Amino acid sequence: MRRARRYILRVRPGGGLRVTIPRGGSRAEAARFILKHAVWVGRERLRVLSTGAPVEWRHGAVLLLRGQPVTVEDIRDHGRRIVRYGERILAVPGEAVDLRRYIEADLRLLARTELGPRLHALASAHGVTAAGVTIRNQKSRWGSCSRAGWIALNFRLVQMPPHVSDYVLLHELMHLEQQNHSRRFWRLVESACPDFRAAERWLKTDGRGLF
Ligand SMILES: [Zn+2]
Repeated sequence: MRRARRYILRVRPGGGLRVTIPRGGSRAEAARFILKHAVWVGRERLRVLSTGAPVEWRHGAVLLLRGQPVTVEDIRDHGRRIVRYGERILAVPGEAVDLRRYIEADLRLLARTELGPRLHALASAHGVTAAGVTIRNQKSRWGSCSRAGWIALNFRLVQMPPHVSDYVLLHELMHLEQQNHSRRFWRLVESACPDFRAAERWLKTDGRGLF
């Protein structure tokens, strides 16, 4: 920036780093400036990411899709506005800068087409039958299983690595047998999903980042 007099670092809402390079400055010098302030950047990033405010999804934001980081691209093509992330493409109306609600609606659509069939496949592989499945926008849980055998799944499961979302599905399916978290229930979970502890760890450490 021609008007800037010095290097300025700013951690953006998504945790990304923005560096302002002053007139006469260089990228190489900016890189050295970042390294010099690495401790501050780490602390500031933690602070920004832990405020709990939902992160905005704008052009250039990185989000998870099936456990892989993908970049949001906001593209204009002959006056039409197209948003792309991973293999997903959607049309977005208007001038909204924060694309989160549109992308989340698309993730819900994806969840509806992917999670239902996956749940039924896992159910038949493990000899249980769910009465049905609904996709929800739960704020504090990944899934639930009603006494009548209906399983509700958080659409954010499609953002997780497959071994984690499979664990959530199997966890709810095992509730068809045991409507509690007794030892017997966890034994069922372990035999259906031997690596469930790694998935639980992922949910605890990375799950929050999906909100
Ligand atoms: Zn449970």
